[in-house]
Parts: sequence; C-alpha cells; structure tokens
Amino acid sequence: MARQILQQCLTCQAFSLKQVCPKCSEVAQAAAPLKWSPEDHRAALRRKMKNVQSDEWSSGLPTLPTLEAMHASHEEE
Ligand SMILES: [Zn+2]
Repeated sequence: MARQILQQCLTCQAFSLKQVCPKCSEVAQAAAPLKWSPEDHRAALRRKMKNVQSDEWSSGLPTLPTLEAMHASHEEE
C-alpha cells in the first residue's frame, strides 16, 4: 500500500501514480517523505482567529457543575 500517491521510479526517475514505472516497468516508490510535524505551526494564528484572550471566549468554555450540585444529583437517584 502506497503511503503517498506520487511515486518515482528508482531506475529512470520518472514520476507516476503507479508503483510500477510505466516507462521501464521497474519499481517506483513514494517520491518524497510525507511532510509532518508534531508542532502546530498555526497555533498562534488559530488563537488569534478565535480571540482566546477575550472574556467572551473564556466564558463560553464548558464547565462542570459544582461539587455540591454533583453530590445532590447523585443522592437523588
Ligand atoms: Zn522507470
């Protein structure tokens, strides 16, 4: 199973979408490793987009009921 769609022939360097070269019938493999980084390079932009420093954003976060409310609802059952 190909990890990536674009393949390159190991023998003649031809690019193809197949794992067998259409020009020389030799083996073709993924043209380049997949680009991936564990760091979120756009995190700052995403935070800016959602305006996370505003009070409106922080008040919109989900919250748990108070401990007393949880005890009360548990005792009712
Ligand atoms: Zn080839």
